[in-house]
Amino acid sequence: MKLEMLSKEEVEERKYEEKAGMINIYACPACRKIVVYVYADSGTTPISITCDGCGGESFSQIAVTRQPSRYWYRPKSLKELEAIVDEAFEAVKDDYENIEEKGAEIKAIILHNFIEHFNSGGLFSKGIA
Ligand SMILES: [Zn+2]
Repeated sequence: MKLEMLSKEEVEERKYEEKAGMINIYACPACRKIVVYVYADSGTTPISITCDGCGGESFSQIAVTRQPSRYWYRPKSLKELEAIVDEAFEAVKDDYENIEEKGAEIKAIILHNFIEHFNSGGLFSKGIA
């Protein structure tokens, strides 16, 4: 048997969903060991491999690009947190009737919840522009 050598273009034509540069993670449900793999080339990978932590079966998670689309961050001030509250309020305000009347109360509830989230170490997310 001969190896089927492919050019970069031929690999692209095959439309592998797992592309060079992506990562995937194998996670073992038994010992919880996680191993991160980088795709040096486009192609397919096994659904499961032997776990090098316990010898059990480690399962492939979804393959993802390494290019993030959002990030997690910790606001630096109350003012910044209030801006996040304003955004959250704008996103939900159409769900409420008599918003003119209740707007301030709803904002106060959101702020309270976000401060609680912040104080317990919770991060906030933002899209990468
Ligand atoms: Zn394991």
